[in-house]
Amino acid sequence: MKFQLFGYLRKHLAILLRVFFAILVAYILSKFQLHQFEFFFYDLRTISRPSPTPPPEIQIVMIDKQTVETFKTMPEAKHHSNVIQKLLQAKPAFVIYVSDLAKIPGSPMDLFQLGKQLEAAPDFYQAQNGLVRKDDESSKLVLPTPFEKVKAISFPKTADNKSFAQDGITRRAFVSYQDQPTYHPIIASYFNDEVRDLTRIRGQFDVYDARQVMIDYHKPNSFPVTKFEDLAASSSVPEEFAGKIVLVGDDLGISHDDYIYSPYLRAENSTTITEMHANMLSTFIRNSAPVKAPPWVNTFFTILISILTLHVVMTVKPLRGILILITAAASFTVLSYFAFWPFGVWIDMAHPFLAIFLCYYFFIPYRLIVENRKSWEYQQKHRLLSEVEQLKTNFIGMMSHDLKTPLARIQGMTDIITRDPTSLSSPQREALDTIKQSAEDLLKFISTILNYAKIESQGVELHLQAKDVNQLIKDVVKKHEFLAKVRHIQIISELEPLFSLQIDPELLKQVLSNLVENAIKYSPENSKVLITSEETNGNIVIQVADQGMGIPSDELSNIFMKFFRSKNAKASPIRGSGLGLYLAKYFVELHRGRIYCESTVGQGSTFTVELPLSR
Ligand code: ADP
Repeated sequence: MKFQLFGYLRKHLAILLRVFFAILVAYILSKFQLHQFEFFFYDLRTISRPSPTPPPEIQIVMIDKQTVETFKTMPEAKHHSNVIQKLLQAKPAFVIYVSDLAKIPGSPMDLFQLGKQLEAAPDFYQAQNGLVRKDDESSKLVLPTPFEKVKAISFPKTADNKSFAQDGITRRAFVSYQDQPTYHPIIASYFNDEVRDLTRIRGQFDVYDARQVMIDYHKPNSFPVTKFEDLAASSSVPEEFAGKIVLVGDDLGISHDDYIYSPYLRAENSTTITEMHANMLSTFIRNSAPVKAPPWVNTFFTILISILTLHVVMTVKPLRGILILITAAASFTVLSYFAFWPFGVWIDMAHPFLAIFLCYYFFIPYRLIVENRKSWEYQQKHRLLSEVEQLKTNFIGMMSHDLKTPLARIQGMTDIITRDPTSLSSPQREALDTIKQSAEDLLKFISTILNYAKIESQGVELHLQAKDVNQLIKDVVKKHEFLAKVRHIQIISELEPLFSLQIDPELLKQVLSNLVENAIKYSPENSKVLITSEETNGNIVIQVADQGMGIPSDELSNIFMKFFRSKNAKASPIRGSGLGLYLAKYFVELHRGRIYCESTVGQGSTFTVELPLSR
């Protein structure tokens, strides 16, 4: 059992190591807050999804540059008084002044009257950025005279200045501070009962003493805006505000305090605080704040992607690996996107993405070392093999050389004995003939091997001359005529007249001799050998075809290898070294030509040599 487990571990060690490193990378990464990176992906998802439809309950009244132009001054207390009166006539659920009452210009009398008017309006509120601390009277929101009796509400704004992405973007809204709800959820609860119970607000998280959510942003200018001056000038009751939340704010391009950076727009003076409040209210009314996926989901994806990256880096070819990683990253992006929209689930993308880079750049050098080592080992092996090969060749050469002397002695002795015919009986003479023949065969074999050994160690130099290939063929045929006659084999030559060619005649003669000799050797008696030559497609093509034993198709590709002999040749009494065709191929290729064979067992073989006319 113990051994089994050990064996299993050994077998899967590479996989286990990869999993281990993947977990390690995920663990190390989880120790780093990658807010900047993460919120970059968060914003991308926010702005690339279809923007939600704004709840109809939110209306904006805006004081902008045009308002100032119309009034020829900043709207004064009397202008505000006029507009607020009209608004209140429409019976909105809430009028929330984002504009600062304390900064409204006007005569003390007008201001005093405005104060009185607002005091009496039950649904009028001044939005304040401050947070009210528990049991701390001094933090209570109070407005300066003459607005001290106007209801001031905590309508805080947030920005990722010192925390989270630290890029100054407003992404979060308060749910509560020190367990006291801020006014966004309170107001929203008038329109959505679900929010009345703060615990049912989606996507809450703790930030110091506060509970916050991510704002479910609408694209810029999604909320209906009425111009302040239009409202001032209209004589009818603005019915569109009935039962709604009316946010009155500034877009004057004067103060930084009137603007925020949103995920959509990071330019100065682009998103007003009023629009930000509209987005916050809308998030609570629709209870649609994005919910962060639990940490284990983050860890799971980081580990998964790390394992994949490690696997790819360690085992897959670079280009394929990159394609696999790009596909994996793209799939993960698509998954995260569709979790975000439409389900409002925010999956962490920074850690898994960073895991890809980390694993890639940490482990690529390791892979390079492994590959380098492999190629070094391969080179060493190769060097060793060539040395062994060289030794073998030298050995064969030496052996063959040493065999030559005793053989010559045997031949000499047999010659002396055969010179006196009377002393031998007829069976003795036959035995002597066999000895002589065998010695000759052996000598030939040794010569071939010596020739091979010499070529292997010294190489061959081409001595090119312009020669008629047909003449060479004729010479070779002539040389083999006797052997053919003995075996009752007819050699037929069909030679097309050819131009002379730059060749090494000695080498090519060896090639052709080998082919013709083989054709005769491996053919039965009374068969034919056909030799042809012609010029086709810029080549001189010489073919030697026989009607012999043929070569099995599975061995056809091996016959040009050194020392190779086919099964049927080995089984026959025909002797050979298996070197002739190897050398033939070598010589033909030196001429930049090609040699190949087509053969059917029992029917014969055709060897073709192609020599290019131009070199
Ligand atoms: P060998 O000295 O054995 O003839 P070669 O290199 O000339 O060596 O040939 C390699 C092998 O190819 C031979 O052993 C034989 O099996 C096969 N072979 C070559 N030529 C023929 C042929 N004409 N017919 C049948 N087999 C052939």
